Formats: sequence, C-alpha cells, structure tokens
Amino acid sequence: MLILVCLIVLASTAFPQQGNKVDPAYFVTHNREDLVRKLVDLPCGIKADDQIKVILQKIQNYLVTFQPTAEFPDDIYAKAANIQALKSVMEGGYGIGSVLVDETGKIIVAAHNTQIQKHRSDLHAEMTLLTNFEESRLAKRYVNIYVYKPGLIVFSSAEPCPMCFIRINTTGADTKYCTPGPDDGMASRVDYLPPAWKEMAMKRKVSLGKCSPVMQKISHLLFYSYLLDNRGPK
Ligand SMILES: [Zn+2]
Repeated sequence: MLILVCLIVLASTAFPQQGNKVDPAYFVTHNREDLVRKLVDLPCGIKADDQIKVILQKIQNYLVTFQPTAEFPDDIYAKAANIQALKSVMEGGYGIGSVLVDETGKIIVAAHNTQIQKHRSDLHAEMTLLTNFEESRLAKRYVNIYVYKPGLIVFSSAEPCPMCFIRINTTGADTKYCTPGPDDGMASRVDYLPPAWKEMAMKRKVSLGKCSPVMQKISHLLFYSYLLDNRGPK
C-alpha cells in the first residue's frame, strides 16, 4: 500500500503543472523509455506494453473525440494540427502537422510532414502547407504574387524550425505553435537571424498558442514519436 501511495505521489510530481502551464522540463524527451512513460501518463488509456499501432490508435480515438473549450481558444487548431501530425506518424513519418487559418479563424488548408514517406528533405509540414496553398485555387483570393494578405496564421503542432520559420515570414503570415521546440525551434531564437531577416521576422506576429496542457503534451509526444521505432535516416 505504501509503495502504491509513493508511486502515485511520484507520478503526480514528476511533471508538476502550475495551473494550465506544463512544466517546461516536460518538453525535453531523451529516449524511448521517457517517451513511453509520458504516453502512458496521457488520458488516452495507453499501456507501456502496447504495440505502436495500438498506441497511435488510442491517441487517434482521444483526438477525434476531444472537445476544445473556450478556456483554450487555440485548441481547435491544436487538435487539427495534432490530427495531421498523427496522420504522418501512422504513415511511418515524423509527427508534425500544421494548418493555415484565415482572418475569420477558419482552417483553410492542412498538411503533415512527409520527409520520410517521400524521401524529401524539404517536406516539413509547414512547407507542404504553404506550397499546397500557393498552388491551389484559394491562393487567388489570399495571395499577392507570393505575399499573403494580412490576417493569415500558420498554426503548427511544434515550433517551426529555421527553414519553415523563414518561409512563413516570407509569405507575410503570422505564426502560432502548440509546443516549444527545445533544440530546434526558431520562433524563440529570432535574435540569431541576420539583420535583414530579423527585421522581416519582427514585422510578423509569432507566438505560442493558447492551448490546453493535454494538446501541448500530445504535440510534443507526436514530435518525439520517432523514438518508438527509431525511424528516419540511420
Ligand atoms: Zn520545418
């Protein structure tokens, strides 16, 4: 009994939450064991010995029935981006997804990472999102040559990398993301850009979305899901 109580206390203090904030330490996942422990901790019913396919199915079941609330206004986008991220993981790819939101708050395009699936170094979720959008009929309404009309937002499950961050900035769109990229995110490292790129970046709105802890956690864990089977170039 004492052991059980200790385990419960340990589980609840490993990643303490201050209100709606997730402990920043949560967003660093070092290995498969760490990842599986966090997956089991999600409210998705995942067990440590579940097969990968079962884990992904349980996350999908949770995501499709997840109801965003007014408390976290960006959860509607986080849910859509996470569904995209999960789609990639189920295809054997990396778990990052993104959506393009118009000035009324409507999602107009969605995309996921396909680097592994298509053997292409550039096919991050945001890159595919913007390319698909620019090549679609929708672009006529929203794009001036290659610059987007004000009010469009790229919402990504994870903080955009340098390549995607610059591409998004070049379009004139604003950036929001569900979970920080502890090692690779560019949004929080604008000061490292060359002066001209920094000046352009400073004209755009870039922010962490107002997302619930569970959406933030799922975004992070899908990002690190490659640790489940060590997928990607060896
Ligand atoms: Zn990227």
